[in-house]
Amino acid sequence: MSNAQQLMADEKQYVLQTYKRPPFVLDHGEGVYLYDTEGKQYLDFCAGIAVNALGYGDKDVLATADGQAHKLVHTSNLYYTAPMIRLAKKLVERSFADKVFFCNSGTEANEGAMKFARKWARKNFGEGKTEFIAFAHSFHGRTFGALSLTAKEKYRAPFEPLIPGVTFLELNDIAALERAMSAKTCAVILEPIQGEGGIYPAQVEFLQAVRALCDKHHAALIFDEVQCGMGRTGKLWAYEWAGVAPDIMTLAKPLGGGLPIGAILMTDKIGSTIEPGDHGSTFAANATVCAVAEVVFDKISDAKMLQHVNQVGTYLGEKLDALKAEFPTLVKDVRGRGLMWGIDLTLDTNKAVSKGYDKGLILVTAGENTLRLVPPLVIENKHVDEFADKLVAILTEMSQESA
Ligand code: PLP
Repeated sequence: MSNAQQLMADEKQYVLQTYKRPPFVLDHGEGVYLYDTEGKQYLDFCAGIAVNALGYGDKDVLATADGQAHKLVHTSNLYYTAPMIRLAKKLVERSFADKVFFCNSGTEANEGAMKFARKWARKNFGEGKTEFIAFAHSFHGRTFGALSLTAKEKYRAPFEPLIPGVTFLELNDIAALERAMSAKTCAVILEPIQGEGGIYPAQVEFLQAVRALCDKHHAALIFDEVQCGMGRTGKLWAYEWAGVAPDIMTLAKPLGGGLPIGAILMTDKIGSTIEPGDHGSTFAANATVCAVAEVVFDKISDAKMLQHVNQVGTYLGEKLDALKAEFPTLVKDVRGRGLMWGIDLTLDTNKAVSKGYDKGLILVTAGENTLRLVPPLVIENKHVDEFADKLVAILTEMSQESA
């Protein structure tokens, strides 16, 4: 048995089986490539599920992690530390927000956002204003609160009952939202571009209507930018494309450069109702992760980086349109923006992903039958060419096998 085979056997024996992992063990990364223990190279179009925006081995990230870890790893939130305060200041200065609460993941960020929206609604508008509106194909996380806002039945059903008072509507259906909102609605939550649910963008007119309806009904508007935020779409925040600002925004994935961090950004309207003791976390805003996040944020929020994402993203979009034209029966639709794209296939996407592994390409699925492309933001046109060549080979094989 090889070392990799032994590790995979041990994983089956000792690790709770909540994931179906492919048959190789990842060992290290460099730039936008991953390498397994056998030395095989993979072009990474998953990036740790939209996390590794700067790819692997960014020198400033490594130096900062090393430097801060030697100085002070963790203190808990009971004390002031400079990295946490500096990061909060940067996030506020570059967004709609006035205040930040740090946590450890996207799920936790949404969990906190729900609590803050409830507290704000209760304090200002009295009892009974506790309900949430979310959308079909949404994904907000796996804990009870965040799961209650997540549409997918498969994720919900085994764990019911979930939090009551959540209504799911079709994304982009303004009339349905007008009918559903009431004095009991405390918040509406949506991803400006839905990720895990299948890369479905919210339309600009819809976002404008949601903003107006939230104002009319005194409901908080929460944007979950855990996946689509921080440069992924070619603007720092996805909401900027619509010119519609939320009251609360949740972040996580790319912020920590691969280390775990989440953040809840909010206006003073919401933040002023939160008091010491209302919420907390032992690990959150750890000095090491915040120091790294500051470097990641500086790099991603740089105008040149955002311009780069737009340029490479446009190139990728053109390649995908060409692919759709080349494989009209296999490729049903392509959607996306910047470096966040979905490709709907008529054949099994899991098969396409596993063929990708054989060809040295890491892909991830989304929704029912969508390939999701969320590569590191630092990929270049030559990587897009390499990706497109590999995908053509995958689709050619799949169409031959299905003929
Ligand atoms: N929200 C969105 C939009 C996500 O894509 C995800 C994760 O995929 C989450 C929340 C949950 O984040 P985490 O897995 O960090 O808890």
